Amino acid sequence: MNINLNYKKSKDNYLFVEINERVKKFRQTHSDLHILNLGVGDVTLPMDKKLVKVMTDALNDQATEKFKGYPPETGYDFLKTAICRYYKKLGVDISNEDVFVSNGAGCDVGNILNLFSFSTAVIADPTYPAYYDSNILCGNEVILLPLTKQNGYKMVIDGLEEKSYLIYICSPNNPTGATMTHDDLKKWVDFANKTSSIILFDNAYQSFIEDHCPKSIYLVEGAKTCAIEIASFSKSAGFTNLRCGYTIVPKELQREGQSLNAMWNKRQCTFFNGVPYHIQKGAEFALSDEGEKICQKNINYYKQNAKILKSCFKGMQFLSSSNSPYIWLKIPAKFTSWQYFEYLLNEYNIVCVPGSGFGKFGEGYVRFSAFAKREDILLAKQRLAT
Ligand SMILES: *Cc1c(COP(=O)(O)O)cnc(C)c1O
Repeated sequence: MNINLNYKKSKDNYLFVEINERVKKFRQTHSDLHILNLGVGDVTLPMDKKLVKVMTDALNDQATEKFKGYPPETGYDFLKTAICRYYKKLGVDISNEDVFVSNGAGCDVGNILNLFSFSTAVIADPTYPAYYDSNILCGNEVILLPLTKQNGYKMVIDGLEEKSYLIYICSPNNPTGATMTHDDLKKWVDFANKTSSIILFDNAYQSFIEDHCPKSIYLVEGAKTCAIEIASFSKSAGFTNLRCGYTIVPKELQREGQSLNAMWNKRQCTFFNGVPYHIQKGAEFALSDEGEKICQKNINYYKQNAKILKSCFKGMQFLSSSNSPYIWLKIPAKFTSWQYFEYLLNEYNIVCVPGSGFGKFGEGYVRFSAFAKREDILLAKQRLAT
């Protein structure tokens, strides 16, 4: 037996652990101060009571004749049907067999690597850390594509050798907030079909999109033969604690004569035992017309937060798409992003995320999250104005 030595290559400290440690240390000497957390990308609003009641009612079934044992590994048909109905409204035709319900997008992003033997990953820099770390732990080669002001903080193909890759696209992007247009995505879909690459499309923020940018990669012609879409109820319906997401692997997606849909089915049935019935009932409700309206209220609240935050940075360079809960701020050249983090913490008692924590090209930036309570956002505005 040998252990996986790739674990030695990965950095010990996860970004948010480091941030929490620094904030904790600051708190030790400043226990009287109200520190505003605009760092972590986690929802903060309580869930709607109706949504919770749907789940508690379903949980109460377990004490009755309606008791349920193991859930189906890939999800109950009632939820798959609700997901297909949601995509139909977007203009995308998928069937229940294309949908795999999971305990979250974060898990699937890592687990999907099980389908590939050796691969080269193409990942944005800055990036959501899980894309990079999961590939390093598997010993994969990684090509980083810088997100810069010049390319609108979006991944562009320019200069990428025509080879077969695993391509990670997150739109609206975490951390920059940039959103891929139909044209942007079409270029990647054509590249992927031409080179036998596979696009992993992380759609965690689809419900924040308010302009014409695609809410699914399958709205782009040709995507079903090259793309896997990973989505989550975490940000759209406040499920970060409850855990529910789904991955779409179209039956049209084949490589080396194998159906990736059949492979993912085998993988999930072998390594995963499904999401609890009452959680899936909640997710189903979140996708109903009534549930969508309810969830949209919280999303609009966070979007309004983002607008207020934006108004704090007049005269500074930043990217803030109306499709995203994040603000990507260019900081003054005299600071590194960790220095700016310390400066904001010490002078304004505000926590942000240093851009360098998302990758080398994140240096010179910090990320603010609008997933906070309104009173904290307004306090931040007040403090930053002085
Ligand atoms: C929050 C987030 C997710 C959601 O992960 P879950 O495991 O479903 O909570 C996925 N991808 C990105 C980029 C995110 O920011």
